[in-house]
Amino acid sequence: MSSNHKSENPVNWPAAITLYSTSIAALIMVPVYAYFNDISTAAWASFVVLAILNGMSITAGYHRLWAHRTYEAHWTVKFVLMFFGTMAVQNSILVWASGHRTHHRHVDDPENDPYSIKRGFWFAHMGWMVRKFESGKEDFSNAPDLLKDPLVMFQHKYYTALALGINFGFTALLGLALGDVWGVMLMGGLFRLVWSHQTTFFINSLAHMWGRRPYTDENTARDNDLLAVFTYGEGYHNYHHIFQYDYRNGIRWYQIDPTKWLIAGLSYVGLTWNLKRVPKFQVEKARIAMQFKRAEEHLKAHPAGHVTHLTQLSEGISAQAHAMQAQLEAFKTRLSHEYENYSKALQDWAKLKEAQYAETKSAIMSSEMMAAYRIKFKELEKQMRQQRKRLNALVAQGPAFAMA
Ligand SMILES: [Zn+2]
Ligand SMILES: [Zn+2]
Repeated sequence: MSSNHKSENPVNWPAAITLYSTSIAALIMVPVYAYFNDISTAAWASFVVLAILNGMSITAGYHRLWAHRTYEAHWTVKFVLMFFGTMAVQNSILVWASGHRTHHRHVDDPENDPYSIKRGFWFAHMGWMVRKFESGKEDFSNAPDLLKDPLVMFQHKYYTALALGINFGFTALLGLALGDVWGVMLMGGLFRLVWSHQTTFFINSLAHMWGRRPYTDENTARDNDLLAVFTYGEGYHNYHHIFQYDYRNGIRWYQIDPTKWLIAGLSYVGLTWNLKRVPKFQVEKARIAMQFKRAEEHLKAHPAGHVTHLTQLSEGISAQAHAMQAQLEAFKTRLSHEYENYSKALQDWAKLKEAQYAETKSAIMSSEMMAAYRIKFKELEKQMRQQRKRLNALVAQGPAFAMA
């Protein structure tokens, strides 16, 4: 069976050789070199700077610019992102972005998601690349925009030559300039490549396994602060999978998302524009929906739920069971009240949108009218935020009920 299975999924030699040989070489050569030589400051600096440049060219460029179109950028920015993205050796923008769009569309589906976590950690991390799988078949029909992009197509056409040239040529030149060719080739070249690979791959593996799910549990994607540190902000993967067209992954000011800071920073000097954000209302809507789901789980798990029948059958029910029953009823009442509020807020929002749309169609909106709408939308957002906080407190009490 296994030989049959293997012939169906032949080894993808270029990827397998690249990934395994660089990993093994780094594991052996870095310690050996460090034993016989001091690793120079220049070598360390080249590692840090190039790792950041590679990593952020993948997150800001390959991912948020080309795969998701969350903002627009000046050609100079695109060129730099293309250059250092190529250096990261993760295939061409076209192949990467098209595969990633498929990942979002069919997330978790073992047949169609190219790196489905349902096939295990290893498959999602690296396994999907080292063999040719049906789920990973190239199909650029989801990337007509990229097929028309001259920079993307140039990079795709000359990808291998560019990747080799930049990794060997550029790194060697940098080493020459810094006066430590071998140190820079090893740390800024080999070790940086392996590090950059592994940290990026964690987004497909760990970010689908480990962390919170505040926005949706319809897929396996998680929010994980620690992962965000190593992935330039991509650790907020639960948010990203529900709102993929947002240029931010960590939306709160205290969440670590350097990619977002870079894109926003460049917008202040006019190098990026049209940054897309999901309205706060939609974000609150998703979070509240998740809290209702959690409340539902509490209700299911509550012991009083199981004594309901007993209460009806027996007169000799204990005072404690009665108290629990009362608590459960109170919980349910408050929950249904919150649910009414929620439905009403959603209706109000839809009505307001409709009114705004009708008004823009029928007349040119004055700035006063626009400001009035903004205030109304803000008010609804505030309502939603307050509701989420109330619900949060209510749901947090849930387990206390269950313990009583
Ligand atoms: Zn994902
Ligand atoms: Zn994505």
